[in-house]
Amino acid sequence: MNKAFVREPDATDELCPRCGAIGTPVPRAVVTRHVREPAAVAIAETANFCPSPHCDVVYFDMFERTISVTAMRAPVYPKDPEAPICACFGLTADDIDRDLSEGVATRTKACLLRARTAEARCGELSPTGQSCVAEVQRYFLRRKS
Ligand SMILES: [Zn+2]
Ligand SMILES: [Zn+2]
Repeated sequence: MNKAFVREPDATDELCPRCGAIGTPVPRAVVTRHVREPAAVAIAETANFCPSPHCDVVYFDMFERTISVTAMRAPVYPKDPEAPICACFGLTADDIDRDLSEGVATRTKACLLRARTAEARCGELSPTGQSCVAEVQRYFLRRKS
C-alpha cells in the first residue's frame, strides 16, 4: 500500500464504500473460503470486512470492489442477526439474549471457554477471520447494560 498519504494513524483505515464504516482487515484467503464462487472473487490480497449490521457489503477493498451478502455461502453475523456470532460453536445473539433473560451466562460462558481451547477454529470459520471471543463479549456487555 502507498503510505505517502498517511498523515495520522486512522488514515490506514479503509472505509466501506457503501456505508462508510471502518473495515476490519481480512486476508483474501479468508474471503475465498466464505463465498460461493471463490474463483470469481475480484478483491485485493488484503480485503476488509464491513461490520455494519445494515450494510449488505460483506467485504470490500481499497479499490472499492465489494462482495455482498448474496455472494456468501452462509448468512453472516451481524448482517443477519440470526447467523451465529461464533461460527465454530454456533452461538447466536439469541443464545446470549436467552442467557441474559435467565440471569446466568451458561451458553455464553461455555462458548467463551471452548473458544480458548484447541478445538476452537473460530478464526478459520468466521467470515471476519478473527476469533469470535471479542464479538461475543462485546454483544453480551452491550445487551447487559
Ligand atoms: Zn458497509
Ligand atoms: Zn467461535
